[in-house]
Order: sequence, then structure tokens, then C-alpha cells
Amino acid sequence: MANPLYDALFAPHEGKATPFLHLTEGRTITHAAFLDLVGQMANALAHLGVAAGDRVAVHVEKSAEALALYAACVKSGAVFLPLNTAYTPSELSYFVEDSGAALFLCDPGEAQAVEPIARATDCTLRTLGPDGEGSFMETVRAQSPLSDIVPRDPDDLAALLYTSGTTGRSKGAMLTQINLLSNAEALVTAWQFTDRDVLLHALPIFHTHGLFVATNTLLLSGGAMIFLPKFDIEAVLTALPVATTMMGVPTFYTRLLDDARFTAELASHMRLFISGSAPLLAETHVQFEQRTGHRILERYGMTETNMNTSNPYEGDRRAGTVGFALPGVEVKVCDPETGVTLPQGEIGVLEVRGPNVFKGYWNMPEKTREELREDGFFITGDLALIDADGYVQIVGRGKDLIISGGYNIYPKEIELFLDTLPSVRESAVIGAPHPDFGESVVAVLVSETGVTIDIDAVKAALRESLAGFKRPRVIEVVEALPRNTMGKVQKNQLRDRYADVFG
Ligand code: ATP
Ligand code: MG
Repeated sequence: MANPLYDALFAPHEGKATPFLHLTEGRTITHAAFLDLVGQMANALAHLGVAAGDRVAVHVEKSAEALALYAACVKSGAVFLPLNTAYTPSELSYFVEDSGAALFLCDPGEAQAVEPIARATDCTLRTLGPDGEGSFMETVRAQSPLSDIVPRDPDDLAALLYTSGTTGRSKGAMLTQINLLSNAEALVTAWQFTDRDVLLHALPIFHTHGLFVATNTLLLSGGAMIFLPKFDIEAVLTALPVATTMMGVPTFYTRLLDDARFTAELASHMRLFISGSAPLLAETHVQFEQRTGHRILERYGMTETNMNTSNPYEGDRRAGTVGFALPGVEVKVCDPETGVTLPQGEIGVLEVRGPNVFKGYWNMPEKTREELREDGFFITGDLALIDADGYVQIVGRGKDLIISGGYNIYPKEIELFLDTLPSVRESAVIGAPHPDFGESVVAVLVSETGVTIDIDAVKAALRESLAGFKRPRVIEVVEALPRNTMGKVQKNQLRDRYADVFG
């Protein structure tokens, strides 16, 4: 029996003296050293009573050890469950309880605060710190690096990944070995990764982007990663000259553009910049190309499905689109009410099917039935259209659609217009309850640095360009849009904030 994910991603690198992780302070971990640590960790998991199928909840800082833990779970047949480092102890209790984790690894600094959670849920608690300290590592160091590869079926769970919670409570997406492996294979091919690649990795590893899109792709291709604890502009600028590729959320790219030291020369040897997790503004795409000559490659995915679509590596990378379905993945745009496929060019709900699509939501059979069709199509909840050239455009989330006086209003259309105004850096458009129209439109603007937005001028520009029912009735200027760690705008928070503006 085999363990398809371990056999493809990890086993081929055992004993290889090639670099895998370049850490800060000039430390490099080879593939061999990484896999020795993985073997020790797998033995430590067994020592702590973790069996195949058990969930291992992990709330620790990004580190080589934290990444090795993912590999150790795959090797042991355990289900890796990483948790957003921003979560507080009270938020953590939901995830530990919901998942029924057998082992909970936390940061040494929070051990005392989360101890009651472990006690209440009867799971073992150990600590793992960012510098390889903590009680778990004491057990690990006492182990042999040789450990068995626990056999797994392609449909066995490899990870339980909770969604970002942008539209409501986070849901646990059950991801199988084949979900992860098939997507890594598709991405290596689509983006032409090889063992000569060095990926600049500044993303968190509790989310599908930094964990699977980045790490699995690099493991399958045999390349290395410059593994930064977080996106720190100094560290990123220093690391760029030795990288070949970078994956980031849109805010990484706007922060690079905000820094005059980020020049064409600094990016000249780079092969590829990839963006995802949130929409990349067309303006960022254009500015990035003007500054560096590189066209950012935007792709689209989600926790439940891994990656679904990507702009082409060779061919036209189009701003404002997320490209075409990846090999093996099917996408279609459907009527939200009937589920019938819509004619090309019309806006509807995007549905996806393929070996990348998850098995269902943990402990939520009803939600799974609502969103995962019997024929295998997953209803993403994102609104999209497919243009005449076959490029998929994400129009926004179904939950963000504004219905005012019976009209459908797509916030993105208004945001795109507002973003073109010279004084506006970025915008978010939401619906707020309105006594006559059901909902009406609120625009929240952020100004360009050092510029004051003239609201009357904005209103005049809107009158020129947009139909009356689409025009925001309330326009507010704020310092910054509320975003989560993945750079996603928290429209829920904005909706709460403006819930009463129309009385
Ligand atoms: P929750 O499902 O808990 O509300 P979430 O949907 O934000 O949170 P993720 O799985 O992290 O959780 O994010 C997936 C979503 O991110 C997609 O459904 C889509 O709305 C958005 N997204 C990802 N990539 C892109 C992109 N390139 N352009 C636009 N939106 C994107
Ligand atoms: Mg979602």
C-alpha cells in the first residue's frame, strides 16, 4: 500500500543534499535534513498516541518546524489542521472542539491560556515555538529520523482546513490526498516550476495559498523556498535578487510598488510573480508592468477547491481576469436559482468540478449537500462571467451582491469606476438596509496618500457614468479598509458599521 501524497511530494527528496528552505540569518535546511526532521516528528506523533485519521490542530508561528509538522502528518496518515495565528484563545476553542483534535500544538506563550480548551476537549497539548523550542520539540529530538510511511487511500483526508471566515463562520474543508496532489501536479505544469526554482515565500502557512499552492508546488518540482516569517518589506527586497518566483496576495504587490527601492533591476532575473486570494486591482497590474516589465499572473481558488483557474504562463495574462480552468478542472457559470448553465458572457454563480474539489464540510452534512452537487460540481458562491475569449472574470461574492429596488447591483462595477478617480486609492461598495429599496448603496473610499477626496466631485463623476440606481447614496472616506491577514476586505464588518445609515 502506498501514501500517494507522501510518495509524490516528500519521499523523492529523502537523503538529497539540495537546499529546500532558506531561512533568515543565512540558515539553509536541505531536503535531507527536512525529511529527517519529518521522520522524527512522525515518530513523536505516534509516541503521543496520534493515529491515522486523527486531527492535529496547530496554532504556531510560521517556521521550518511548523512546515515539517505538515509533512509528518501526511507521513503518519494524520489530518493536518493549521489555524490562523491571529486567532485568540476564545476563538480557538471552536476549532479544537469542532475538529475533535487528538493533539493540539500551540505557541509556548499561549500554553497557559489554551490549557482549559485542551482539558475540556480531552486532547493532548504540546508547545512548538518559532525557534524550534517547546515541549513537542523535546519529544521530537528524542526520536529516530526513520519512521514508517503509513498507507493511505487517495480519498483519505490529508488536511482539515478552515475557510477564512470572510462571509460567516469558518467551515472545515475536508481535503483528501488526491485533492492536494492533483492540484500540485496541475500547478507545476501550468506555471512551469522546476527544481531550479527558488520561491520567495512570505505568506502564512495556515492558509491554502502559502501551505498548498506554494509549498506543494515547490515540493513536487523539487525547488527551494526563501521562507520568511511574514511579509516584511526590508526582508522581501533583500531576498528578491536570489528568488526566481514569488507568490503573493494583492497587498504584497501594492506594498512593493509603494517602495521606490523596488525597481525593474531588482526584479529583472525573476521568472514569475503570481497573485491570488483576493482580487488584484487592474491598476496594480498595470503599474507593476510599467515598473518591472513583468505581468503578474493572477489565479483563483479557495480553501474548498485548491486552485481552479489561472491566467496562462505563456499567452496573454489579462488584468481583471483569473484566466482559464486548470487542466482537469471544469468551470461553468450557472443561474443562482435554477443551477442551469448560462450563455457565455452572462453573470452567474461559478461552479467547479475536478479532482481538486474537497470531500465536504467537516461536521456540516447539510451545508455540504447545499453546496456540493451530486454530480460533483461545487457551488463556489462567487459570481463570475466567462468572456468571449474564455477568460473567467470574478465579479464578486454572491453574498456581496446588492439588491436595491429589485435591481441587481454588482459592487465591483462601482468599485472599478471609483478606483479610476485620481484621488481614490481603493474603494469598497456594500449594500445597507434601506426602508424603501430593501438595500441601498454605500461607498467607502481610501484616498491616495496626501490627497483629500472631494466628495462632491466624486458624486458628479458618478452622475456622469453610472445609472441612478447604482450610485452610492452614502460616500465615506476612511483611513484604510478593514482587511484580514490574507488581504481580503472584510465587507461583513463594513456592513455592520453602516447597518443604520439609511435609518
Ligand atoms: P469564507 O468562505 O469563510 O467566507 P473565504 O471565502 O474568504 O471565507 P478562502 O477560501 O480563503 O475563504 O477564500 C476563497 C475566496 O477568495 C474565493 O471564494 C474568492 O471569493 C476569493 N478569491 C480568491 N482568489 C481570488 C481572485 N484572484 N480574485 C478574486 N477573488 C478571489
Ligand atoms: Mg469561501
